[in-house]
Amino acid sequence: MSPDTNQNASAATVPFAWPPGYRAAAAFTFDVDAESAILAGAPEAARRLSVMTHQAYGPRTGVPRLLRILDRQGIRATFFIPGYTAERWPVVVRSIRDAGHEIAHHGYLHEPVSELPPEEEERLLLRGLEALDRVAGVRPVGWRAPMWEASGASPGILARHGFRYDSSLMDADHPYRVAAGPEPGAPSIIELPVHWGLDDWEQYIYLPGLSGSGLIESPTKVLELWTLELDALVTEGGLFVLTNHPFASGRPSRAAALERLMDHARSIDGLWIATAGEIAAHAETLPLTPVFHDRPALP
Ligand SMILES: [Zn+2]
Repeated sequence: MSPDTNQNASAATVPFAWPPGYRAAAAFTFDVDAESAILAGAPEAARRLSVMTHQAYGPRTGVPRLLRILDRQGIRATFFIPGYTAERWPVVVRSIRDAGHEIAHHGYLHEPVSELPPEEEERLLLRGLEALDRVAGVRPVGWRAPMWEASGASPGILARHGFRYDSSLMDADHPYRVAAGPEPGAPSIIELPVHWGLDDWEQYIYLPGLSGSGLIESPTKVLELWTLELDALVTEGGLFVLTNHPFASGRPSRAAALERLMDHARSIDGLWIATAGEIAAHAETLPLTPVFHDRPALP
């Protein structure tokens, strides 16, 4: 099958074929960046104890609270974990595994790989795999680009190392197949698309001089934002991928709002709430035409 290029409005099946009885899907995902997301861009921040504890709140306090909520809700989630986080917080990472959630790959030290040559991107992928295996004995099938900064080489590298899906790209409302090249038969994997509007970092993070908008939003506003998008995606028959960070959404009022969103999601008739890996495995069964993202030529 020849990959479609970006000349086509949508190369994926529309409407997307969900499993029998379902009209849309939702995945609750958590990126356990902890210290790595700051250290990747600002290694000198390792000396800043307050900043480091802001990040450590995720594994130390946020993850246990979120695991309790997920348990109450009967929802299995996907946790994208950098290798560095696994090495620094092994007991926490094993607690996520032992609670029955999916563990997926999120770089080694949260490197934005779009800035790296492909060989370095591949080396870091392997280093992250090795850390997750050593700490938790897991071999992830999913990957999310740190900072949502995938490179043109990412689909090919992921396919070569047996990954089944990525969750970093932003050009669809439902899963599709992303190709590593334009040629017929090019390797491909499933894409579970994301968006900044469904990421808690933009809503809650305030780290002076390091990250965030400088504005800390009310969880009431955030719940409204995410509920509107969930309801509209259900109407469209799409996929709702929510990305939360335990150091952000693990805080009490935010976690409470997230649980209200889960209550609402569970009340929606025909909404399939599943892990990213389960949704990707379903998409793999469909005859999806792969999409190849060519690099735009500069004028
Ligand atoms: Zn991250």
